[in-house]
Amino acid sequence: MNVKLQIVIESEPGGLPIIQEVAQFERAGLQPATLGLALSEAKSILQSVQQALVEQQVSGYLAQQAVCQDCGEQRVCKDRRGIVYRSLFGKLNLQGSRLLHCACQAHSTKSFSPLSELLPERSSPELLYLESKFASLMSYGLSVQLLAELLPIGASLNAASVRQNLHQVALQLEAELGEEQSVFIEGCPDEWAKLPRPELPLTVGIDGGYVHSSEQTSRQDGWFEVIVGKSIPASGNSKVFGFVQTVEQKPKRRLFEVMQSQGMQMNQQVTFLSDGGESVRELQLYLNPNAEHLLDWFHITMRLTVMQQMSKGLESAQGELKAGAVAALEHIKWNLWHGKVSRALQWIEDLAVDLDTAETDEKQRKLSKQVQEFEVYIHRNRAFIVNYGERYRYGEVISSAFVESTVNQVVSKRMVKKQQMRWSKKEAHLLLQIRSKVLNAELQPAFRRWYAGFAVEEVEPVLAA
Ligand SMILES: [Zn+2]
Repeated sequence: MNVKLQIVIESEPGGLPIIQEVAQFERAGLQPATLGLALSEAKSILQSVQQALVEQQVSGYLAQQAVCQDCGEQRVCKDRRGIVYRSLFGKLNLQGSRLLHCACQAHSTKSFSPLSELLPERSSPELLYLESKFASLMSYGLSVQLLAELLPIGASLNAASVRQNLHQVALQLEAELGEEQSVFIEGCPDEWAKLPRPELPLTVGIDGGYVHSSEQTSRQDGWFEVIVGKSIPASGNSKVFGFVQTVEQKPKRRLFEVMQSQGMQMNQQVTFLSDGGESVRELQLYLNPNAEHLLDWFHITMRLTVMQQMSKGLESAQGELKAGAVAALEHIKWNLWHGKVSRALQWIEDLAVDLDTAETDEKQRKLSKQVQEFEVYIHRNRAFIVNYGERYRYGEVISSAFVESTVNQVVSKRMVKKQQMRWSKKEAHLLLQIRSKVLNAELQPAFRRWYAGFAVEEVEPVLAA
């Protein structure tokens, strides 16, 4: 069997069609692998169709541009120059032309290139979209392999250009983010009362993660912190966000926009749960008048559990001290669970003194250090410590264990500090932006906003590795 494929293009209805052969292949002896098209044939057909279609589109456009749009005079062609344009279906060498402006109107330049002006970016929007999307979910190298294996994308695609395109898309997203404000609460209680009845509370968990740094100058700064969070409405889809603390210029704006996109109203209750870190404490303030801020119970118990284990490991020779420490930690936990911060702090201080003054060994010194750090931690976060026991009885949220998985979801595995690959802060920040948009199913809508006629289907976001 001999198969020929032709493309028929009718530039104008009723006009003479242009017919071009785009592929030819043979088939003999039916086998599973020879039934229908092979991937290589499909790629080659796509590429040929793309080439033929684009040539016609471009020549039609240039013919239109060859005439002055104001007076209809023919424009003078100064020279021909090609541009290279990369699309999902092949790298295209487009023949453009440089035209002299018509004298009927004043122009700031003598000449212009219609095609270069039409295509300021040298990659098609769909290519930019898929490159950024995949590169936010897997390595640049794998993204190239995947796209090149399935599409006639050409050998010209490489990890460096995918990375560059991802940055370009991320910067475009960043440019859309509004100005930073210290306060995002708008209106007054009277106005809030007139708002429609809000949805049930919005829960926002904020946590930190660590990324392996390429800007390392000593052993200590081998990593840097990223802030990651998830906003969960009572109904509807959760959204994630993330940024690199030292790069981010508009942390509050970023978080506010996430909540806003979920329909947050000023009369709606918002519960913020955080790990109590220095960097996230300020972030959550002044975003909503009905906000409550909680130190995440999960993070308190994690620290307590570590100290409890250490106290049980004290030498039996320090029997009294050991028993005292174990009991004190129980009291501390009970008081914190019931929101009795002053009482808890008293117990912590006493324990710190006991551990510090008694005869010490290595294990005791380590526990002593932990207890002192815990004292500082509780002091700094005392405003965010609530009566967890009561909230728990009322079925209210007290812990954002869900954020732990968010950290793993938003901070790609290839970024974490154990991995070989190192990241600059700027690059990690830009990657986090694309990745959050992909996980929130917001990247495709952004492309639709930027490019009229952009029509890539929305695919449900996947849990990324
Ligand atoms: Zn003219």
